[in-house]
This record gives sequence, C-alpha cells and structure tokens, in this order.
Amino acid sequence: MRVFKFGGASVKDAAGIKNVQYVLQTVGYEDVLLVVSAMGKTTNALELVIKHYFDKSAELNAAVQEVKKYHNQILLDLFEDENNAVFAAVSAQFADLEYFLAHNKSPNYNFVYDQVVSYGELISTTILSHYMNFMGMATQWLDVRNFVKTDANYRDAEVDWELTQANISKNVKRKTLNITQGFLGSDPNNFTTTLGREGSDYTAAIFAYCLNAESVTIWKDVPGVMNADPRYFENASLLNQISYREAIELAFYGATVIHPKTLQPLQKKEIPLYVKSFINPLLQGTSVSKGVDLEPYLPCFIVKRNQLLISLSSIDFSFIMEENISEIFALFHQFKIKVNLIQNSAISFSVCVEDKFNNFAALNAILSKKFKVDFEENVTLYTIRHFNDGAAQTVEANKTVLLKQVSRETMQVVTKEV
Ligand code: ASP
Ligand code: MG
Repeated sequence: MRVFKFGGASVKDAAGIKNVQYVLQTVGYEDVLLVVSAMGKTTNALELVIKHYFDKSAELNAAVQEVKKYHNQILLDLFEDENNAVFAAVSAQFADLEYFLAHNKSPNYNFVYDQVVSYGELISTTILSHYMNFMGMATQWLDVRNFVKTDANYRDAEVDWELTQANISKNVKRKTLNITQGFLGSDPNNFTTTLGREGSDYTAAIFAYCLNAESVTIWKDVPGVMNADPRYFENASLLNQISYREAIELAFYGATVIHPKTLQPLQKKEIPLYVKSFINPLLQGTSVSKGVDLEPYLPCFIVKRNQLLISLSSIDFSFIMEENISEIFALFHQFKIKVNLIQNSAISFSVCVEDKFNNFAALNAILSKKFKVDFEENVTLYTIRHFNDGAAQTVEANKTVLLKQVSRETMQVVTKEV
C-alpha cells in the first residue's frame, strides 16, 4: 500500500482538487491511502473563529460564514448540480460546528480548539471524496478519529500506538482508494484531538507505519526538497536522496519541508518518504530513505530570520555555571522562548532565540536582576549543513557576523544585515 499526503496548498481551490484527481490518475490509486489537510488557510480561519468565540465577539458569526463561503465556492466550482449529495454533507458538518459553538460548556481553550479546527479536515476530505466518486474513482472515506487514538493533551496529543495499530490493522481495507483526515485523532472518551500544527505529514507516517506501507509520498507545489530556499539563494538545487538521519538533522535546524515527528516512525521500518511535485507527478522528486546521506552532496542552507541574540554575563565576574544555566533555561522555557543556538565562555553565555510570543521584555526584567544582559534584535541565524568555504562566504558576505559556531558537519552563523 502507498500512503499519499496532500497538504492545504494542494487543495486550496477547485483547480487543486481536480489536480489531485489528475495526480492519482497519473500515478495509480489502487491500494492507496490519502491523507488530506484542511483546504488552503482554513485552519487559520478556524483559529480566528475560536478567538472570536472566546472573546465573545460579535464577529463570531461572520468568521464562520467566511469559512462556509469559501468552501461553498469550491463546491459550486466542482459540482454544477446543487442536488449532489456533497452539498448536504458539507452543510451538515457546518451545522455540527455551529451546534458545538452554541452549546459547548467547556472553558478549556485547547479542548475547544481541537473540536473546532477539526472541521477543516473533515470538510476537505468530504469534498474530495465526493469529487473522486463523481469522477468515477470509488473511494472509502475514513473518519481518522476511529483509527488514530491519542491521549487527551489537546492541540499536541500523543499517539497511543498500540490502539492505533490495532484499529488500522483491523479496519483499513486494502485494494481501495481510502481517504482520511490528517492532523486529527481522538482521545479515550472519543473527543477530537489534534497532533500539532502541520501535523498531517505525521498522520501519513502513522498510517504508513501501521500498514507497513511501501512508501509515503508528500505531494507539494515544489519539485522536492531543495538544498536552500530559492527565494533567498540563487542556484538552489533539488536533492535527489537524503538519509533519514540527515533529514532529521535538517528538520532539527529548522528546515520546514518535513515535519520532524514524521521521520522517526518511517525510519524505524525503513519506509521511504518521497517529496514530489503535484504539478509534475512523474518527476522523481526527493527520496528520504536508507542510503547515502545526501545526493548530490551539497551544502544545505537553513535560514531563520527575526531572531534575538542575547548575551548574559555575570555582574561580579564570577563564572556562569550549571546552576545559572539551568535557571536561565527554565526561564526561557517558562516564557516560551525557543533557543536555537547556545555558546558559552567562562564569564558569558550567549543564545540565539526566537521570541514568537513577544515575551522577551518580561523575561529581561527578571534576567537583568542577576546578569548583565546585552541583546541584539532582528538578527538572522544561518545554518549550513556540510559547509564549505564558498557556502560560508555566501552567508557572510555584506553582513556583520555576530557569532559563529562550527562543528564537523554544521556551521551556524548569526548575522546582522548591513
Ligand atoms: N491543517 C493543519 C494545519 O494547517 C494540519 C496540516 O495542514 O498539516 O496546521
Ligand atoms: Mg497545512
């Protein structure tokens, strides 16, 4: 069996959905399980619904209508006949969502979040499945919540592998075109859970693992995994082959092509992961599999912008030791500041961090009582795996290098644009 994942961008409009059908027609669809995300930016739109819901905002209804309108347009573009059963099916899902919003009593934000955002995937797979059937490809629509069982840690649920394995082994039919939702699961009480933003790749890996699938393919609007983001680097090239280990390293340093959690289950069973273009489905794309680390062997560039470089030194020239360091890390954790690079010397300690939630000012107020704090905002962190002189020059040219760290395979440079 092959597992295919189509993300939000691939099903963002009627043309996208038609293209999914074209891809399946081209590469075959017997014995396939499709994992599909919410259409386009639907998850973000539903996050806005949740925000209005908790703010008790008058805009709640308009936000729901917006999501409805978007899907309705796609339905109209795909199916001329409004008597097609898909219209009623999607309406029923929106009615369920509205019923939930009107009757929910739980004040638990994360719980509500999962119950609401899940409609994105439920609706997208309903539309896709009806469209496939309409085009003569019989599909089996699966409610992923009957398969992927998790704990009740809403928004970041942990998979119960044993139960999930049992459900999938028992109830996924082979030799069919199965369609299911990415990103979702259900807890022991059968409430909906989610696996974390961008979690659909992970869903594909879960199914592949439990089905002993022959491969997973992630269909994207790019030809595969590149060694650099073509928006920032000239001469970005397609990588044909990446080993699991190398892909995990790249994801660790922030390469966003592959969701990091996705790789582990695949690596365990040596199931290859292909990243391919949904525009040219017959092209090879990238294979993440057992084999050489990187082919072609090129430096790989990962850029993280809008970072904060913080240097802490002791006020009394004492050393910064384990005890201080663990205290500092506990604070970063508490303020949800993500540490991307660490460097320390006898009397100073530097970190390059990402302050997604704008908590640094509050943290600084605490740190400044104990340390001398220097910081530089708006810096860029470049990571180069398999660096060479040319690659280093590329990132250092015309910039001020504030910090540099080099290990055998990886160079990291914090720069300020000048
Ligand atoms: N729809 C979810 C999200 O946007 C899951 C996914 O796309 O992977 O985060
Ligand atoms: Mg997505």
